[in-house]
Amino acid sequence: MTAIRAEGLYAFYGTTPAVDGLDLTVPAGVTFGFLGPNGAGKTTTMSMLTTLLKPTAGRAEVAGFDVATRPAEVRRRIGIVFQESTLDLDLTAVENLRFQADLCGFPRREARGAVSAMLALMDLSERGGTPVGQLSTGLRRRLEIARGLLGAPRILFLDEPTTGLDAQTRAAVWEHLNRLRREQGITVFFTTHQLEEAEHCDRIAIIDRGKVITHGTPAELKSLIGADVVVLRTEDDARAVDALADRFGLAAESTPDGLLLRVANGAGLVPRLCTGLGLAVHAVTVVPPTLDDVFLHHTGSAVRENGANAHTLSRLGEGLR
Ligand code: ATP
Repeated sequence: MTAIRAEGLYAFYGTTPAVDGLDLTVPAGVTFGFLGPNGAGKTTTMSMLTTLLKPTAGRAEVAGFDVATRPAEVRRRIGIVFQESTLDLDLTAVENLRFQADLCGFPRREARGAVSAMLALMDLSERGGTPVGQLSTGLRRRLEIARGLLGAPRILFLDEPTTGLDAQTRAAVWEHLNRLRREQGITVFFTTHQLEEAEHCDRIAIIDRGKVITHGTPAELKSLIGADVVVLRTEDDARAVDALADRFGLAAESTPDGLLLRVANGAGLVPRLCTGLGLAVHAVTVVPPTLDDVFLHHTGSAVRENGANAHTLSRLGEGLR
């Protein structure tokens, strides 16, 4: 089953394409990360998939219905969580959800049950009577997700769901999203420019300048980059360089932090180094490739402009320390 399919999708603002012939397939029941730097076209794509913006050209199907010709059918099957909060801060959590239930056309009696169920699902039952203005940012986010789920959607769209949240709150939001996917089998489609978020996905597409430049599982994308970085300190690094070449066929680079090697399976190499090098190994650090590296590999200057590769460098730095 396919949840989302887009073929040759275009959106123009004036004469500039924000989405430039985009192709995308999202299988049903997966968490799908739509990853790209600021201005790549993520929100515009999501707007078209959620029927808020008509494609300039091309076509897209969501839950089996064409977004341009059957928008009402699509809307009935999706939930949306926008990048900017659209909750009413003066209303309580329950009142916000009831308002949404009215918009979804729930009969009054059913609305009460549905609202309670959604609050319970997102662990917000005890906050139902609290005005939203008094809730923390993380709780508001969860409330927005609860609201997006009110119509029992098959596909939940989230635009940068964890931007601006601290690490702990972000982890809590992800715990809830992962549970939703597991327990309810819904498809979760979310946009992000935070590369570490992509680790939560079953599948990822990377978008840049309105086009998908690569897609796959996190592991597949990482394997494109290939190498783990291994940093090694031994009792005698100069002799270790020769031993690494002779015994393992590996070329080591001497750095102030130790000997640096690039190998496909860093974790697998460590025990062999310890037993087979013939020298005492004092410290080993393995830094696997990150999605940042994938991004850098595919988008080059765009990543540098947006500073996204700073994360890789800092992680590598951590590994070297
Ligand atoms: P961000 O991560 O910053 O939200 P994004 O990947 O979601 O970025 P979009 O918001 O889809 O990107 O924007 C894609 C391009 O379209 C950008 O160049 C943006 O400036 C432009 N754009 C977006 N909305 C409009 C609009 N209403 N009018 C004109 N140009 C727009």
